[in-house]
Amino acid sequence: MTIPNIYNNTSHFDFPYSSKAMGVNYTKERTSITLWIPFAEQVVWRIYDNGLGGKLLKELLLTSHEDGTWSAEINKDLHGHYYTIQVKNHGKWLNEIPDIYAFSTGVNGQRGMIFDPEKTNPEQWKEDQYIHLSHYTDASIYELHVRDFTQHPESGVNNNGLFLGLAEENTHNAIGEKTGLNHLVDLGISHVHLLPISDYCKLDERTPQNGYNWGYDPLNFNTLEGSYSTNPFDGMSRIIEFKKLVQTLHKNHIGVVLDVVYNHTGLVEDAYFDQTIPGYYFRHNTDGQLSNASGCGNEFASEKPMARKYLIDSLKYWCKEYHIDGFRFDLMGIYDIETMNIIEEELRKINPAILLYGEGWTADRSPLDESHRAVKNNTQQLKNIACFSDDFRDTIKGNQFDVHSLGFISGKQYEEEHLKHIIVAGLPHPQIKESYLNNDLKYWADSPQQVINFFSCHDDYTIFDKLKLALDRKDYDTIDERICLGLAINILSQGIPFLHSGVELLRTKKGVQNSYKSPDFVNQIEWDKKNNEVVGICNYLKNLIRLRNEYPFIKCENKQEIQENIEFINNYIPGVVTFIIHNKKKRDKQTSKICISFNNTTKQHHIDVPSGNWKELSIDKYQILKSGSKTDIIVSRALSATIYLDL
Ligand code: CA
Repeated sequence: MTIPNIYNNTSHFDFPYSSKAMGVNYTKERTSITLWIPFAEQVVWRIYDNGLGGKLLKELLLTSHEDGTWSAEINKDLHGHYYTIQVKNHGKWLNEIPDIYAFSTGVNGQRGMIFDPEKTNPEQWKEDQYIHLSHYTDASIYELHVRDFTQHPESGVNNNGLFLGLAEENTHNAIGEKTGLNHLVDLGISHVHLLPISDYCKLDERTPQNGYNWGYDPLNFNTLEGSYSTNPFDGMSRIIEFKKLVQTLHKNHIGVVLDVVYNHTGLVEDAYFDQTIPGYYFRHNTDGQLSNASGCGNEFASEKPMARKYLIDSLKYWCKEYHIDGFRFDLMGIYDIETMNIIEEELRKINPAILLYGEGWTADRSPLDESHRAVKNNTQQLKNIACFSDDFRDTIKGNQFDVHSLGFISGKQYEEEHLKHIIVAGLPHPQIKESYLNNDLKYWADSPQQVINFFSCHDDYTIFDKLKLALDRKDYDTIDERICLGLAINILSQGIPFLHSGVELLRTKKGVQNSYKSPDFVNQIEWDKKNNEVVGICNYLKNLIRLRNEYPFIKCENKQEIQENIEFINNYIPGVVTFIIHNKKKRDKQTSKICISFNNTTKQHHIDVPSGNWKELSIDKYQILKSGSKTDIIVSRALSATIYLDL
């Protein structure tokens, strides 16, 4: 069906604005609904006894108001009922849908749910607290997909693949190694970043075992995905169970970051936004067609006042109702800068420790000029919002668009200056020769607080698979060392470390590059493979995180500190970068400086360094290897990160 496009003929300045609270408002005595649908001819509200099928109990027309809103109320306790709305526009009835604010739905997100929010709170929910975070650089972020993490039978959890599965504590695999949440707690990460957990459309919640999706096909933005709950037919289960997960993570000192995908919708013509007010919530090209910066068929018009309000209302709702600690914006380059800065301001009022970051790019061109959008090169105009560093990713593992390309950890030569550049969060540094850097490596951030360092994530091959594709077969037995070298650079560089789940478990996706709808066989974390060898890598990562936390001076707080406290060792050895971080602010009393050497060659090298009481710290064991006297030479070990403390 072609929908008449109001936006083509009407500037968004012609739309009225309403600051009212939207959606359904429940009390025991009455339930009201308020929706912003200017220019609608009629709006019907239908109440059902079920989320799918069942009986129609009531049907009534909403009343329109001057600010473009429509409302109605029913004086009855409607807890547990489901509803739809339907809009008449240009003489045609649009689809029957939940309203765009629906706070929960029945199975597959077809009808909204009316519920008593008080009944969704687990015991002691009111005492649950956000995770404290002084600086973004104090975070260590671990990205995971709810289902992947506990779907495998060897995860040892009872609720495989569900919110409740990730909330199970003290789980183990058959040989007694920690799995699931137990594994995360052991690593000591500060935040989990969950791939989309709001309702998405391309997995049938009635038979989730027959499909799989990452969830970048959003349907109801304020509703949780039903397939992660024990009962997708009951809109209450998903809320209660997700709150239990948040509460359990918080109890274990882990913050919760949600990957949010407001930049587009999973449905295009049938998108609930367009079935409410055709055209308003999306951008269009000059020919009136939907623009497509998301690469998925449409793009959200964050700059339009009521679209902006929708976005901010939704994020505030997640933050307040679910105690969310941070958001990761998928294709943040689609959002306008002004909206992003308002989001930051509004969310920080609710949670002063909110952690915000996103992808500073788009998948295609947008009609909104790039100068207005939150792309990586405009990071300096974003307040307290970080961007992913693709410079970091490509320097570590090679160009992501070329399977066979090499990066520092796969042994690429003459990469030292690029490595130095990412060690200092891509900021200007007196010892880095700008002329040695690729032209596209611009100085895009203004502070390490704006830089997310990562070398693998859900997109693309796992690092294990990438190394298998890029390395010669004879080098396969060095993959463990190369991943550990990547982890060390990730955790010990300036900026915010971000880890893809399973990097420490040598995760393979069986060579599948884009696994967004691949079966569990490809995507799930294979906990049976957490054996002695893999536990060594897990401990290595755990000890790196511990080092970063126990010696806070490693994390410079701003550009000036990086320029003053980080000293690169000048004697050039191909494949080796050695630097010292000075503890000038005396953030801890244990040591005056740390010396770190990253070596991608298969030989060890002796490095001249400024004289000090240098003691080597074994990361594997988190032990000082031996006591020694004052020295001005250190050993940079082959294909590894070597660390010395001046004690
Ligand atoms: Ca769904």
